Amino acid sequence: MAYHESLELAAKYAKAALVKMATLGIVAQPKNFELWYGYYSGTNPELKQTLEVILRKKETFTDELNAELHDRFFGLANDVAEIQKASDRIQSAVTRVLEYLGDTNTQVSDYGKTLETMSGKIAKETDIEAIRSTVAGILSETKRMAMRSSKLEGQLKIATDEIVELHEHIQYVRQEAATDVLTGLPNRKHFDEQLRLCMHQSQEASEALCLVMADIDHFKKFNDNHGHLLGDQVLWLVANTLVECVKGRDIPTRFGGEEFAIILPRTNIHGAKQVGQEIRTRVASKKVIRKATGEDLGGITVSLGIAQYHPGETPESLIQRADNALYRAKSQGRNQVVTEAFPDSAVAMQG
Ligand code: GH3
Ligand code: MG
Ligand code: MG
Repeated sequence: MAYHESLELAAKYAKAALVKMATLGIVAQPKNFELWYGYYSGTNPELKQTLEVILRKKETFTDELNAELHDRFFGLANDVAEIQKASDRIQSAVTRVLEYLGDTNTQVSDYGKTLETMSGKIAKETDIEAIRSTVAGILSETKRMAMRSSKLEGQLKIATDEIVELHEHIQYVRQEAATDVLTGLPNRKHFDEQLRLCMHQSQEASEALCLVMADIDHFKKFNDNHGHLLGDQVLWLVANTLVECVKGRDIPTRFGGEEFAIILPRTNIHGAKQVGQEIRTRVASKKVIRKATGEDLGGITVSLGIAQYHPGETPESLIQRADNALYRAKSQGRNQVVTEAFPDSAVAMQG
């Protein structure tokens, strides 16, 4: 798209967003603007759908709701800012170490050069994983250097402590970036990484691996009847139920919207079906209560589709097959577990 065209579009979205905010009585501050700009530009269908539900229900956009929405849909952007901050701090810590060192002897100056190269790398990186590994490198180089020269030990101790602290901070940011804010489960990004890893391990060790896709039944109706915020509570309830139903190495995640994906390593289709049934019955047995009034809103149900990994296939293909099974569970009446049709030879792989 030509530059002036995109600029024109941006101006159009910005204007529509501001007008809408004014009619809804939403304060025109940057975070709110970001939400409504996103609504009109349509780049995030989930955001658009969510705002539409709230509009249809004529719910008030309170400061609380606005903040929560922003957190949900732009949380990742915040993470990027956090990563940038951490990277800046590492830069200044390394610069300080270089200042301590001067260039007294060749050993030290080699170390100085290594630090400089590594810190240059960090400045260009936006990927937290790459930053983490570079910081780990700086840390071990620094420790090695401190051991070699007792004269430098004291000064390097200060630098090491600072780098250790940054390293820990980065681990934290990294974990936050992989977590879904609403449910506390690992998010889609983490799911993609873990699925790839588990598929690799399954192939290497010739162990079975299953993927369960779970989707809340008639959730749109629930949101329409009881409001979006209560809908969010239900998502949290389902997420917690998933955690209750799985053991150690299983990985329950929020796949997106009201869909969850559970990776079950070392589990064949029979075992996975049992886990699926456990999830289904546990969710169905819970009651949703409106906290403010104590009103019993009845139960909710989920439909689940399960597929077992075929060694060599792509993640997309496995997800597609689990999704097909889920589709069958929906079309056969919901609140049920459907496993894909599976060749006997593969079922024989033990979990
Ligand atoms: P089905 O049984 O076929 O799955 O019907 P459904 O209504 O659950 O499915 P549909 O895909 O039509 O609607 C999904 C709904 O999930 C609509 C959307 O507003 C809601 N939803 C998605 N993400 C969130 C969220 O984060 N919070 C809340 N409250 N609702 C969400
Ligand atoms: Mg769905
Ligand atoms: Mg649904």
